[in-house]
Amino acid sequence: MSYNKNNVFAQIIRGEIACVKIYEDEKTLAFNDINPAAKQHILVIPKGEYCSFDDFILKAQSQEIADFFKVVRKIALEQNMVESGYRLISNHGFNAVQTVEHFHVHLLAGEKLGGLLPEDKHAR
Ligand code: 5GP
Repeated sequence: MSYNKNNVFAQIIRGEIACVKIYEDEKTLAFNDINPAAKQHILVIPKGEYCSFDDFILKAQSQEIADFFKVVRKIALEQNMVESGYRLISNHGFNAVQTVEHFHVHLLAGEKLGGLLPEDKHAR
């Protein structure tokens, strides 16, 4: 999978598409998912060009990987998710139905979440 600079999240990073920003630093951006699957649904992305979790782990330096996941936790804390609970999801590739080919973590919280997969996992 080669990185496509025209993917939606690359456009959000460049400011070409608007988002509801939750957090930003030099290397990371977090914003609300446009189609929330829970009361709180935040997407956390590195600004670097990584297609998916798999690509991120293969190509990023260990420090960048550690920093990224520490920021995910910082956002969860700032958004009051830690005590009540939250779920992280990252889809890689076809079988996981990854739709945007820029690595992202879904941070879901704000209510009791359902099972790990939809009831009918063949629905999509
Ligand atoms: P994936 O299926 O790749 O794991 O998740 C992609 C997510 O990006 C979906 O939950 C989808 O709702 C979200 N998304 C797609 N386009 C946009 C957009 O233009 N803005 C925002 N904020 N989220 C988007």
